[in-house]
Amino acid sequence: MNDLSVRGVYRRYVVEPRIAFFGTADPAIVGDLTNMSIAKDILWTGTGWVRSPLELLARKVVGPATWYQNVCENVKGTVCYVQTWTHIDVRILLNLDAGIDAAMQANIENTWKNGIEGTWNSPVPSVGASPRAWKCARQGEAPCRVSFKVHWVGNNPHHYVNVHTGSGREDEYTWYTMTLGSTAAHEFGHMLGLPDEYIEEAVCPGRAPVGTGTIMANDSTYIPQRLVQWVSDEIGSDLQ
Ligand SMILES: [Zn+2]
Repeated sequence: MNDLSVRGVYRRYVVEPRIAFFGTADPAIVGDLTNMSIAKDILWTGTGWVRSPLELLARKVVGPATWYQNVCENVKGTVCYVQTWTHIDVRILLNLDAGIDAAMQANIENTWKNGIEGTWNSPVPSVGASPRAWKCARQGEAPCRVSFKVHWVGNNPHHYVNVHTGSGREDEYTWYTMTLGSTAAHEFGHMLGLPDEYIEEAVCPGRAPVGTGTIMANDSTYIPQRLVQWVSDEIGSDLQ
């Protein structure tokens, strides 16, 4: 399961709203932020039972009425997921063509889940680097991995994907039984709101950036900071 920083959640969802409301002039509030006294005395010693209320506090549902515009094209994609602190859950419903049997379904689900979670949970953070998960933390908080999980569901999905037999040109909503795990990982990026970064002069001469070598450019495992910065920004943390 995902990492959860007790102090981080407390700082973000208890202390910071109080500062926003009361200001920082109150020494009790400033002291709280510095010492995390409540977090230490009550929450820190109770990470077991207190975990689920903390998760509720730190959970944000994004979408479904959220859109990203693929740069300069008339391509719009849906952005939809649940963020719990640094963990992202995405529920996907696969609309399978009639010819796809249970064995094939199990096979492609396995391939795509491995491709998506393997890439997003162990990205190459800079060119030439070894794969390692991005982490979020402020000083004094436990660093939490930025983590991603795919759930294949039969109802209440974040995203629908039509799956056809064979191969073809994929997009966020259209995959094929021959679709690679690396391609599924790219399309997953669209589900999180990230636009394409490959050169497509004919239909999209103004797209920028392009030729970046990232997962959104050529389905690589290269996921630089700017592509996951939104996870960190949402919880007011620092990406490392
Ligand atoms: Zn794309």
